[in-house]
Amino acid sequence: IFMGATKDVYLVIGGSGFLGRHIVQCLLDRGDTVSAFDVVQRYHDVPFYDGDLTQYDSLLTALKKSGATCIIHTASPHARGASTGLFWKVNVKGTNTIIQAAIDAGVRKLVYTSSSGVVFNGSPVNGINETYPICDKHMDVYMETKAKAEEAVLKANGKRGLLTVALRPSGIFGPGDRQVMVGMFRLYEGNRTHVQIGDNSNRCDWTYVTNVAHAHVLAADKLGSEPSLPVAGEVFFITNDDPWFF
Ligand code: NAD
Repeated sequence: IFMGATKDVYLVIGGSGFLGRHIVQCLLDRGDTVSAFDVVQRYHDVPFYDGDLTQYDSLLTALKKSGATCIIHTASPHARGASTGLFWKVNVKGTNTIIQAAIDAGVRKLVYTSSSGVVFNGSPVNGINETYPICDKHMDVYMETKAKAEEAVLKANGKRGLLTVALRPSGIFGPGDRQVMVGMFRLYEGNRTHVQIGDNSNRCDWTYVTNVAHAHVLAADKLGSEPSLPVAGEVFFITNDDPWFF
């Protein structure tokens, strides 16, 4: 049951990105009101707020002007593309800035894109669920900062009425990807194709981007549902449930 006649108004932070754009599209397809916030503009069919998410004032202006009741925060530097300082600044400090701006603007819902990597320390993980602990020692600073941001988002649940949820996709593939295929193509161009990881039985979880986008929209819907489903303050792995051999 979806309580309340009013529909949410969405602000997608990172809305010019691969996943962010698919979330915008998913919302447009069902007739919702959506704006994008990003440091770059790539699309011109929704209101766009040009800003850095580490800047409180830019966020507050975008939240007020867009009238957002739900933030979907899917911005991050690429997993392999940034300095330690930038990961901490954008993922940890920036996510905390978003939380503060959301609370101050009276936003009701915050959906955060985390990563399944927050539970991966290099040892195989197979068939786990959300009760599996976040690892003490992360693979890299990207995973570490994604975990810290996720923690902050979940802790903010209930603060001045804000409802939060974090989603953990693993690999994401599909149209618009600027990371995975680019990396594979570079390997191919560099003739580095004779690679085998372990005994070749490794599996890796990849999910099609529109499914990941849909999960974000469902999570946003369920945050406001009544009787309250155990979504607020929770984290969910997003998966196709059929890991591929890698
Ligand atoms: P992407 O780079 O295509 O999109 C991220 C967007 O965020 C970009 O448009 C970028 O300009 C924007 N951005 C970055 N820093 C910003 C800042 N300081 N202020 C405002 N905007 C900023 O990346 P993606 O693949 O779509 O990833 C989206 C989210 O999904 C990220 O949070 C990432 O950690 C997570 N994730 C991605 C994958 C994957 O395989 N791509 C897997 C697991 C989790």
